[in-house]
Amino acid sequence: MTNPTAAPPAAGTMAAAVRKALSALGVDPDGLTGPHEARSPITGEVLARTAEHTEADVAEKVGAAHEAFLTWRDVPAPVRGNLVKRWGQLLTEHKAELALLVTAEAGKIESEALGEVQEMIDICDLAVGQSRQLFGRTLPSERPGHRLAETWHPLGVVGVISAFNFPVAVYAWNAALALVCGNAVVWKPAETAYLSAIGADALLARAVREVGAPEGVRQLLLADRVVGQAFVDDPRVALVSATGSVRMGREVAPRVASRFGRVLLELGGNNAAIVAPSADLDLALRGIVFSAAGTAGQRCTTLRRLIVHSSVADELVERIAAAYRTLTIGDPSAEGTLVGPLISRASFEAQQRALARAVEEGGEVVVGGGRVLVAEAPDAFYVEPAVVRMPGQAGVVQEETFAPILYVLTYERLEEAIALQNGVPQGLSSAIFTQDQAEAERFLSSAGSDCGIANVNIGTSGAEIGGAFGGEKETGGGRESGTDAWQAYMRRATNTVNYSGELPLAQGVKFL
Ligand code: NAD
Repeated sequence: MTNPTAAPPAAGTMAAAVRKALSALGVDPDGLTGPHEARSPITGEVLARTAEHTEADVAEKVGAAHEAFLTWRDVPAPVRGNLVKRWGQLLTEHKAELALLVTAEAGKIESEALGEVQEMIDICDLAVGQSRQLFGRTLPSERPGHRLAETWHPLGVVGVISAFNFPVAVYAWNAALALVCGNAVVWKPAETAYLSAIGADALLARAVREVGAPEGVRQLLLADRVVGQAFVDDPRVALVSATGSVRMGREVAPRVASRFGRVLLELGGNNAAIVAPSADLDLALRGIVFSAAGTAGQRCTTLRRLIVHSSVADELVERIAAAYRTLTIGDPSAEGTLVGPLISRASFEAQQRALARAVEEGGEVVVGGGRVLVAEAPDAFYVEPAVVRMPGQAGVVQEETFAPILYVLTYERLEEAIALQNGVPQGLSSAIFTQDQAEAERFLSSAGSDCGIANVNIGTSGAEIGGAFGGEKETGGGRESGTDAWQAYMRRATNTVNYSGELPLAQGVKFL
């Protein structure tokens, strides 16, 4: 049995829809020219041509952002919140058009693309509230007539580097908070997502004009990774918030560290879910299929390893395989499609290499893995999500292959499952499916999952913005969006105010 498929739209249809969406977002599509070809992974066709910025543009844009920062930092934070509030309103009004660009460029199915824009709206709401809560602590001083306090101040220019798979939401996570904190923002989107970035930035630019914020407070840098290096090297970029592969993090982090800049890293994951014997398998099945096959396996939080108790492994794997065979693969804008394209030929080749290696290492492909030709589109790469039973997790299972491959491992004791879960270099997202509260608590304890995200009876992907998001180990240690993530975009000063009229020194030191 083969998967149902949805053929991509006829050539030219998508480019026309993209032009319409750009116009609605306030971008003149005829004004977009330049050497960069913005392609769609749905058909491989060129949707539009855009500028490609150079190192000279880096200097100019960072300079303009820095200039704007000098004004913006003096605007009271709750007033800065008005900018983000307006951006959120514009995103709400234009949700469908921006989501269309995300579908066209990143290949996300419609509901996930809409969800991505909703995430932008949600973080704007959160940031507006945060703009009245950039609070510092007051501490008791050891000296009489003294007040000790911590205050928070903006950093300056925040550089945001984003990945192709969340082409706009990750920018909003950073920009909404960075702006209310009083920073200017320069955004370098992924090379495959310039149109989505142009659309999202146009709405922010409009909000900037409408609320009278300094024009330069937002900047868009359409640049590849080579020019991106000049961007991360610029000493005026106080914080580089970079989302992408571990490879990128290894290049960017030392460069920023060498100039004592700050980094916030959101890198690759190799996420696992444990399925205990007591698990509700119906619920687990749905959580697993969404996390593993959704977004065609191209989320940082995609479920890549299933660690299932041997007593339920055969039944669960059989049910996952059956569910996989029903997934409609193809045009992500067609109703009913659940699995869109991979982003590129390179992704497809990486998926094929990983599967071949898994088999060499003793794996058995239970379902999927093949290319699906949904139409005569040689430059579009659709694949069947794969499930592979593995004898252990040395080798290929240690790596994040950014494609829908779910490796299945079995266990006997919970300690063994947790050791497998933690036994990879990455530390982003994790989950356990169990009805046993003691097991769930052990998984969540300090001796349990070592990831930044640890869930119970829910899959590894689909986080809400209220919680801080990020991961440990090679995932980079950064935290974005909710709780105290705003502090990453600010510097802290400790203030001692002496109103005593005397000059007592701390620790009882006597001098003069
Ligand atoms: P990538 O690392 O190829 O590129 C990400 C971004 O970094 C792009 O904008 C790219 O141009 C830029 N870049 C790469 N090398 C650079 C360099 N040396 N200097 C400056 N910029 C550089 O990643 P990708 O293929 O776009 O995205 C997929 C990866 O991103 C996966 O590993 C995924 O797990 C990860 N990701 C992580 C998170 C998270 O929050 N942890 C979220 C989304 C994606």
